[in-house]
Amino acid sequence: MHRLYCEKYAYSVSISKFSQLFSTLNLKFKKPKIDTCHKCDLLQCKIQVAKPEELDSLQLEQSKHVNLAEKAYDAKQNDKQRALADATLKVLCFDLQQCLPTPLLRTSLSFYKRPLWTFNLTMHDCASNQASCYMWHEAIAKRGGNEIASCVFDYLLTLNTNAKHVVLYSDSCPGQNKNSFIATMFAIFMQFKNNVDIIDHKFLVPGHTHMECDSDHALIEKRKKLTSTKIHHPRDWYQFIRTIGVTKKFVVNEMAQSNIYDFAHASKNLFTWRKVDDSGEKYSLIDIKWLRYTKETGNVYFKKSLNEEEPFKLINISKRGINCVRMTDLKICYDAPIKIGTKKKQDLLDMLPIVDEVYKPFYINLATEEHLDCHPDLTESDETNE
Ligand SMILES: [Zn+2]
Repeated sequence: MHRLYCEKYAYSVSISKFSQLFSTLNLKFKKPKIDTCHKCDLLQCKIQVAKPEELDSLQLEQSKHVNLAEKAYDAKQNDKQRALADATLKVLCFDLQQCLPTPLLRTSLSFYKRPLWTFNLTMHDCASNQASCYMWHEAIAKRGGNEIASCVFDYLLTLNTNAKHVVLYSDSCPGQNKNSFIATMFAIFMQFKNNVDIIDHKFLVPGHTHMECDSDHALIEKRKKLTSTKIHHPRDWYQFIRTIGVTKKFVVNEMAQSNIYDFAHASKNLFTWRKVDDSGEKYSLIDIKWLRYTKETGNVYFKKSLNEEEPFKLINISKRGINCVRMTDLKICYDAPIKIGTKKKQDLLDMLPIVDEVYKPFYINLATEEHLDCHPDLTESDETNE
């Protein structure tokens, strides 16, 4: 008979006895806390083989790193509690989901045929628990800084007029969430007439970035595995995700090319991102953990920690001759459908026999370009090697 051994009390019980005890005492298993990163794993390996004289400094480095990660989670939790009691404060987190294959195949064909990718950026309101998904596909736009900034921009433009202070949490992926494009977008948004006085963008510790939007993505992945719904076109993904949600169904916003702005162009042409702060000290985006945008044109504040007590430093980004940015100063990123690789196009055409008749022209008409077909999920990186 299988038995469970309790180390603490040094005795073993049968599984049936154990289950009986559990239900009688109304006990539940706590979810195991799996939140480690490359740095955690590397430090743990080093500690295991360390010489006695190296042990103290390695253990100190490990505890500092874990402490920072926990403090960042605490900061998010505190902001969330404040937002629950204050309607003028919005606390949000956002992230991209892993690419969704389209069409969604349930046969072995899916292992060797390249699908068209459908993208989803989820913005999660931590107080109301409403998830808003911004979705598009590979032929509409890529999934870089301009796209992420445009989704967040779209969300901010539709914010309830009560919101005066917006706090956003994200990971530190330099290609997507932590770059001058997204910073430019926030700076521009603050120049528009709206009720928002402060935007804070806070970054979780690389490798320890679990957020509410990740739970939304896990739920989508779980439902994706269980569903028998036909997903033959990106629009089927949009509809499918609209049916998901624990207490509130996810809101899906379909991004068109007209919603994707060229914030890279705006960053270069409407602002000057100086390499030194206002005190003349060099700063690096990698070290920044908190960016603050206010109504003061051209001023961006930053901190190297999420500590409320630490004073902000200032970066002046104003460009000579430009006092105010208007919506009309923003350029649209793309003026034609994005081309896909020729090999991918061939794979999609090979899949046509299983695609509904109505969607076949969509795949047949996809524009192509001869280049390497690479998986967009493999081109991103977080600052895990800090
Ligand atoms: Zn770690």
